[in-house]
Amino acid sequence: MSRNNHNKGNRSRGPEPPSPDVIDASDIVDSIDGEPSLRVISRLQRNGFEAYLVGGCVRDLLVGLTPKDFDVATSAHPRQVRRLFPRNSHVIGRRFRLVHVRYGSQSVIETATFRAAPQETSGEDDLLIVEDNTYGTAAEDAMRRDFTVNGMLLDPYRRQIIDHVGGLRDLEDGVLRTIGNPFIRIPEDPVRILRAIKFATRLGLRIEEDTWEAMCDGAEDLSRSAPPRVTEEILRLMRSGTALGAFNKMRHCGVLGVVLPDLDEFLGEVEGADRIHEKRVSNFRALLEALDSSVHDGVDVSTASCLALLFHDIVEVEANPSTRTQRGKPGDFHTVAGEVLEDMASNARLSRRDVGRARRIIYQQRIFTAPFGRRFRPALFCLSEEFPESLDLFRLRCEAEGEGWDLYKAWEERYESAITLDDDEVESERRQARRRRRRK
Ligand code: ATP
Ligand code: MG
Repeated sequence: MSRNNHNKGNRSRGPEPPSPDVIDASDIVDSIDGEPSLRVISRLQRNGFEAYLVGGCVRDLLVGLTPKDFDVATSAHPRQVRRLFPRNSHVIGRRFRLVHVRYGSQSVIETATFRAAPQETSGEDDLLIVEDNTYGTAAEDAMRRDFTVNGMLLDPYRRQIIDHVGGLRDLEDGVLRTIGNPFIRIPEDPVRILRAIKFATRLGLRIEEDTWEAMCDGAEDLSRSAPPRVTEEILRLMRSGTALGAFNKMRHCGVLGVVLPDLDEFLGEVEGADRIHEKRVSNFRALLEALDSSVHDGVDVSTASCLALLFHDIVEVEANPSTRTQRGKPGDFHTVAGEVLEDMASNARLSRRDVGRARRIIYQQRIFTAPFGRRFRPALFCLSEEFPESLDLFRLRCEAEGEGWDLYKAWEERYESAITLDDDEVESERRQARRRRRRK
């Protein structure tokens, strides 16, 4: 790949840069031969519209990663896109209209019309974006994106990458920076703080100084962002395979105290923590490290498992009368797990079902280590809905704490044999459990 044009990229809002960086991308285009989004781009271009691959897929292709999805941006308006794909497209979104073009049962190509930077804000000194829906040019569309590495366009038919924002150079230098002034771009959508952490850790990029400063300054503003978006980004960070790195950055820029205040308080001060808090932090880090290696091994981490992992240690402390910080004597482990999850559940608008499952996963951690009661049927416990996730968390805890492996192995064996039981055998286990209950 060779650059045939070089400019410094536009670092501030204003008129679009006169000439973008353009590089040959033949190798990349050859590597995505047959990709369905190319058919969408081809038809749009043949009908006189501009169309490109944009955003995350261009970035990922440049660094040799497999993109999760291939998004298309075009000069065609949603209705014009619909007309070109009458049978396999539909418009989605009310506030911001996109067209989904479908090929087969597997691939849906998100096709968005170029948008310009939004003008509206929610108040005079307030930069938060409330409206984001003005159509624009390809260059404007690149400029309103969040980070330079996410702002490049790929034209598969001219076999070129077109860079209006300095993303090529930043990717080469390993730098994550906002497009334009970070002291404007971060406050206008504080969720970008979490996105910056995600991209920096996932791609191993260094966060540019001003961008980092704006992130630290803007951490508090995240409390004003839509809770479901914030929760979604936290869950993505947990499942990214770089949860530990993300957690360290979240703590250092002060954002953990805003998005997960109970956890942040539980872990204590970032600098100069006492021995108890130091130990909590090192335990929690070890747990995230175990989680990351599990993600690298291909384990899927459910929302409930993420929540259970985040809050398990707090529940242990709150369920113990000698370490409890909340008022009143602790109830049983299950009740305390409910108390601890309650705040997060209502603030983050998590589904009742996920919170209920997280609560059971936390509660079940106790069962792994407790002696069996008379009524307890291990096989039935192994067949309960959350058991595989609970055992998985127990495994991560063993890995983090470096102990408990014998117990883990024994439970793993019980699970292996429980899943081979046939219906009659399960029924007989149930009968025995009921019988014991009656006798009591
Ligand atoms: P991933 O691989 O995690 O999906 P992505 O870069 O594709 O990463 P998306 O969240 O799918 O990220 O968004 C697609 C593109 O839309 C981004 O690359 C970016 O250009 C733009 N974008 C997404 N969210 C924002 C935002 N909050 N502000 C500005 N631009 C954004
Ligand atoms: Mg994406």
